[in-house]
Amino acid sequence: MTKQTIIIDNLAFAKRNERISGELNLSDCGRLSTLLAADSNKALSSYMPSASIAFNLSGKSGSHGQAFLSLSLQANLSCLCQRCLNEMPLKLDLSFDYQISDIAEEDLMLAELDEPDDIDLQSISQHMDVVALIEDELIMAMPIAPIHDQACASLSNQSGEKPNPFAVLKTLIKS
Ligand SMILES: [Zn+2]
Repeated sequence: MTKQTIIIDNLAFAKRNERISGELNLSDCGRLSTLLAADSNKALSSYMPSASIAFNLSGKSGSHGQAFLSLSLQANLSCLCQRCLNEMPLKLDLSFDYQISDIAEEDLMLAELDEPDDIDLQSISQHMDVVALIEDELIMAMPIAPIHDQACASLSNQSGEKPNPFAVLKTLIKS
């Protein structure tokens, strides 16, 4: 599959109130796919994560000439539950606001301290890589150790292990 690339001139994009939306899949996001498949159990190396990522990026110019970008993401991912090592769905619904600023990259960290928490800074770029941005945001939003919300369905059936009768007792005691 060919990798999608979306490059924008972010300042021009914002000033013209442009908007793009589309869908990415895992072949567009190599780093994310590695992360989703990350697993220490070699027996599960055949596991293939899947993902559909819908995105919407819109530009907006402020009344004082500022340039903003809004990004919203709806991602349906699959990953491995770190408790039972079964596949589990992971839904992420995210939105981000950025202000495009000509502050040099090295000063960004400093400047960000003065910004309201919910607006990130993006430096001006005529070649801003939208796919990389989306991938970065998804990676940062990923739980470090995703596990099933409710009890895992088949904890005892994994990797030929015999269920431990005392494990049941333990959960009884806890509740
Ligand atoms: Zn689980």
